[in-house]
Amino acid sequence: MPETKKILFLAGDGIGPEVMGQVRRVMDWLAKEGRASFEVEEGLVGGCAYDAHGTPLHDDTMKLALEADAVMLGAVGGPKWDAELPFELKPERGLLRLRKEMELFANLRPALVFDALAEASSLKTDLVAGLDIMIVRELTGGVYFGEPRGITELTNGERRGVNTQVYETYEIVRVSEVAFDLAGKRGKRLCSVEKANVMESGLLWREEVTRISAKYPDIELSHMYADNCAMQLVRAPKQFDVIVTDNLFGDLLSDCAAMLTGSLGMLPSASLGAADATGIRKAMYEPVHGSAPDIAGQDKANPLATLLSFSMMLRYSFDMAAEADLVDDAVKDVLNDGVRTGDIMQPGMTLVGTTGMGDALIAAMEKRS
Ligand code: NAD
Repeated sequence: MPETKKILFLAGDGIGPEVMGQVRRVMDWLAKEGRASFEVEEGLVGGCAYDAHGTPLHDDTMKLALEADAVMLGAVGGPKWDAELPFELKPERGLLRLRKEMELFANLRPALVFDALAEASSLKTDLVAGLDIMIVRELTGGVYFGEPRGITELTNGERRGVNTQVYETYEIVRVSEVAFDLAGKRGKRLCSVEKANVMESGLLWREEVTRISAKYPDIELSHMYADNCAMQLVRAPKQFDVIVTDNLFGDLLSDCAAMLTGSLGMLPSASLGAADATGIRKAMYEPVHGSAPDIAGQDKANPLATLLSFSMMLRYSFDMAAEADLVDDAVKDVLNDGVRTGDIMQPGMTLVGTTGMGDALIAAMEKRS
């Protein structure tokens, strides 16, 4: 009997509950097959949590997140809350609190182009077909958090806006170690990205990553300036395996790489924290997309980004590579069979809804087992 994994389910707002519902079905299927055992707790985050408790994340839910083996999240937000609520009560604050208190410092954003969808990319098909890169973005430091920050009034009547890019050694070391470990499980190449030519924090980043690389002799390390990396991502993206970079550059580069794949509905992500004594890291898995209020409640949302996030959970939190491969391969099968939700629809393919995509995925998993 496989060891029971404790998972906190935070479906959130908009299409969150619909896409997370498909994950539940896949989990039930894995349990029925005797391949996994899950204990699921459910909680509220975002606008729905505000409606129920007057806060986007209740302390009790935060506690559950800290106690869980992993957190699976749908999406938060919507016009109902975006416009009206003060900054500290906005749905996204729930997400930020989870990331902060779980200390999720490494954000993993794969950019994977499925053969069946290669034509959906804005780049030429041959540039992206077979693309499989992983961007590791530092998530809790850098210019988004550095002090001093703020807007001040100057005596001459003008105003001054300040943000500070700051990194300490431990922050660079821990995120680089995650990236080296990942590279070791993939193509064994790591590209570290900063602007060491103009920023001291970038120089420190480069020196620390180089120092740590001595611990990983089988990984080929290269360095690249962030502006060049942006160019290379659209010129020849397949040159990369794993990229590690800071919070700001990672924000930009991961969105850029994501769009090489063509659709928001296909993009998973993971955020990892420090490992405990048993080697288990705090972790949260979520699709990159938002709550898509325009299609919520209509059975139109593509659940594949969330299902691929779940497969990252199997792979990175639970070391269940065979089950993660099964989900990933089933996604490929479904796409190769021409099954499409509206966001990835192409002429001649079969249009299905959220539940229909879940049905097709489970059928594909059954066929492969
Ligand atoms: P969005 O990602 O929700 O939607 C952008 C567009 O992509 C919409 O047309 C939507 O229909 C489509 N789309 C997104 N996911 C899809 C899916 N799985 N299947 C099919 N189509 C999909 O971004 P937005 O419209 O800018 O934001 C909507 C709300 O979501 C806002 O309240 C925003 O603050 C919030 N948001 C939340 C997160 C998060 O929870 N991590 C991320 C981004 C935005």
